[in-house]
Amino acid sequence: MRVFKFGGASVKDANAVKNVVHVLQTTGYSNVLIVVSAMGKTTNALEKIVALYLDQDADYKRSIQNLKQYHFEILTSLFDHKQHPVFKKAENLFNDLETTLTRNKSRQYNYIYDQVVSYGELLSTIIISEYLNNNGFANEWLDAREMIKTDNSYRDAEVDWEHTQQIILDTVNKKTLTVTQGFIASDQNNFTTTLGREGSDYTAGIFAYCLGADSVSIWKDVPGVLNGDPRVFENTKLLSHVSYEEAIELAFYGASVIHPKTIQPLQRKEIPLYVKSFLHPDTEGTSVKKGQPLDPYMPCYIVKKNQTLVSLSSIDFSFIVEENISDIFKLFHQYHIKVDLIQNSAISFSVCLDDKFNHLEDLLNTLKARFKVAYNKNVSLYTIRHFTDDAIVSLEKNKEILLKQITRETYQMVSKE
Ligand code: ADP
Ligand code: ASP
Ligand code: MG
Repeated sequence: MRVFKFGGASVKDANAVKNVVHVLQTTGYSNVLIVVSAMGKTTNALEKIVALYLDQDADYKRSIQNLKQYHFEILTSLFDHKQHPVFKKAENLFNDLETTLTRNKSRQYNYIYDQVVSYGELLSTIIISEYLNNNGFANEWLDAREMIKTDNSYRDAEVDWEHTQQIILDTVNKKTLTVTQGFIASDQNNFTTTLGREGSDYTAGIFAYCLGADSVSIWKDVPGVLNGDPRVFENTKLLSHVSYEEAIELAFYGASVIHPKTIQPLQRKEIPLYVKSFLHPDTEGTSVKKGQPLDPYMPCYIVKKNQTLVSLSSIDFSFIVEENISDIFKLFHQYHIKVDLIQNSAISFSVCLDDKFNHLEDLLNTLKARFKVAYNKNVSLYTIRHFTDDAIVSLEKNKEILLKQITRETYQMVSKE
């Protein structure tokens, strides 16, 4: 069997949903499990609804109505008859969302976030499943929250692999077409959890691992994995063959075309990953498999924006040694801050940080009690895998460089924007 993943861009409007049918016609659709993300920018809209709700801004209800209108416009284009049960199902989901917020007593941001943003995937999968059924692609809709079990680290939940695998094997019929949600799961008390932004690729990896799938295909708005994000770099080229190791490195450094957690479960069972264009489903795209050399071999460019460069130095000119460094790292862990790059000298220690959960200010205040702290916000971290001198020269042109680091295969540089 195969696992397919359709992301937000591939289901952003009615035409995109119709195109999913075209992809399935091209590739075949028996023995397929489809993982779907929220439509277009729905998750961002739901994030804003959570923020308004927590600010006690009554406008959150208007934002829910706007999101409802967006989904109902898509529904009206996809279904001829308003009597179709999908309209009632979508209506019920929006009512549930409002009730969830009205009844909620918690002030815990991460918990509320997961209960709310999960509606994006519930809506998209109801719509796609019904649309496919209506067009001769009989399928079963399954609730991913009943299959993927996690701990209760809301917004960044850890999968309980054993329990999850057992439920998935008992629930999914490998011989038919199944539609389920990316990104969402549930904890031991059956509260909804999420796997981190852009986590639907990871969901595809989880299902493929648990089902022992033959392959995973993630359908994107690009021809495959390119040697740079085409929104940022010019003249990017398709990477036809990539190894698991290379893919993990690229994703880790910030190539957002694949969620970093996706590869590991696939690599453990040697399940190939195909990154393909939903606009040209018959083209090859990128294959990610065990041990295959990067082909074509060329420099790969990655940029992570909105990072923070923090430099710590000791207040009394004493050395920054293992002991302080280990304390500093405990703090990064405690504040859920990801470290992208490290450089140290005798009395100073620099790190490039990714503050996904907005804890930077608290961290800086804690650090200031023990160190002299200097920092630059909104810096960019550039990485070139398999760098050449020419690649470095052209990247550095017109940039104000704050820090640089070169290892065998990887060049990294932090610059002001
Ligand atoms: P999804 O619709 O599945 O959420 P994403 O938007 O997360 O898809 O991923 C596709 C986008 O990733 C592309 O539009 C592209 O701008 C970006 N991207 C970043 N790095 C790369 C890369 N190395 N190759 C291809 N696309 C990349
Ligand atoms: N809808 C979620 C997000 O936008 C998950 C995903 O798209 O992968 O982050
Ligand atoms: Mg996405």
